[in-house]
Amino acid sequence: MYDPRWARDWDAVGLVCGDPETPVRRVLLAVDPAPSVIDEALTWRADLVITHHPLLLRPVHGVPASTQKGRVVHQLVRGGCALYTAHTNADVAAPGVSDALARVLGLTDLVPLSADDADPMDKIVTFVPEAAVEKVIDALAASGAGELGEYQRCAWTAAGIGTFVQGPPPAPLLGQADDGHEEGDGGSEAARAGGRDTHRGAHEADREPGERESVEERRVEMLVPRQRRPAALAALRLAHPYAEPAIDVLELAPWSGPRGIGRVGTLGTPTSLREFAMLVAEALPGTAQGVRVAGEPTAVVQRVAVCGGAGDSLFDAVRGSGADVFVTADLRHHPASELRDRAGEGPPYLVDVAHWASEWPWLAGVANRLEGAMDELGRPIEVHVSTRTTDPWTFRLPSPGGVVR
Ligand SMILES: [Zn+2]
Repeated sequence: MYDPRWARDWDAVGLVCGDPETPVRRVLLAVDPAPSVIDEALTWRADLVITHHPLLLRPVHGVPASTQKGRVVHQLVRGGCALYTAHTNADVAAPGVSDALARVLGLTDLVPLSADDADPMDKIVTFVPEAAVEKVIDALAASGAGELGEYQRCAWTAAGIGTFVQGPPPAPLLGQADDGHEEGDGGSEAARAGGRDTHRGAHEADREPGERESVEERRVEMLVPRQRRPAALAALRLAHPYAEPAIDVLELAPWSGPRGIGRVGTLGTPTSLREFAMLVAEALPGTAQGVRVAGEPTAVVQRVAVCGGAGDSLFDAVRGSGADVFVTADLRHHPASELRDRAGEGPPYLVDVAHWASEWPWLAGVANRLEGAMDELGRPIEVHVSTRTTDPWTFRLPSPGGVVR
């Protein structure tokens, strides 16, 4: 669900402690690997805790129990409980942390606020005599090429004429070893571009060196994930009737994929900023901070950007998205002031919530998906969402104002 390769390079995700060989029956989910959560896990006899925030983000040289984080590691190991972190890899996943936040606010038509590049893709182009086209497409498809969404074996072809001139007879053995076809004397044919075609063997035997030859071929194009390139090229060479097939490999430009930080979506009906803030307050778990808003309460909002956790690095993306309001956490004075000064009276407005509360809705979805996936495998597990609030703030006083002294 959360490939570690999707994590930002500064992040620390994956297994923090625990033996991968140990069976897992009970899993506790939490935002933070806080002491209260670890207590809850050990009391419930969890085998695994999955948290969003890393326990050890900065490098450490030891985990002595005399340090707070070292003590957590000791408690977990002694209690037979593993710890696993899915942080920025869960942020960018689709669905990910911000999808969950967007859904509890009732947003639909979600797209990433700042999209990651999709997995790198190549386009393989080759030129195949008519009779071998289906075989070459089959071979490429079997190697992982031609998958497009829910479609498989996608290819595009166009007819054309290949032409070449037979070179002088080659030295013995040249070009016969790599063809992969069992075939009488074909291996002694010239191995120049387009030089040997098993399907025209008899005809070719009549050809004189220096004679101009034209062949009906098809240009075949298929997409392939870049990491599958070696397998696809090997399959293509094996299936293609020519000893030296013409092959172009085109590296496609980076392109937005479904993953990325934050989400933008739409409310069913336009609503006032005040009503929207009330909706946010009701949808998220209770915190001392509650919901802070920057903008006129009567302003109308419908297009909404969200980012679970600290999102003030995304203001350019928020402005570019056309969002009326941005829901995130940990907004600081200067970035927030500058965004609002630039916006004048208009959008985007800001809604700031507690960091923990903004990421908490993700846990319920993880629980459902994990339980569902393990049920399907016939190995059901129990997954609970932690009931502990790990927001550090405990109370808040409204400041009633008065003369600034
Ligand atoms: Zn966070």
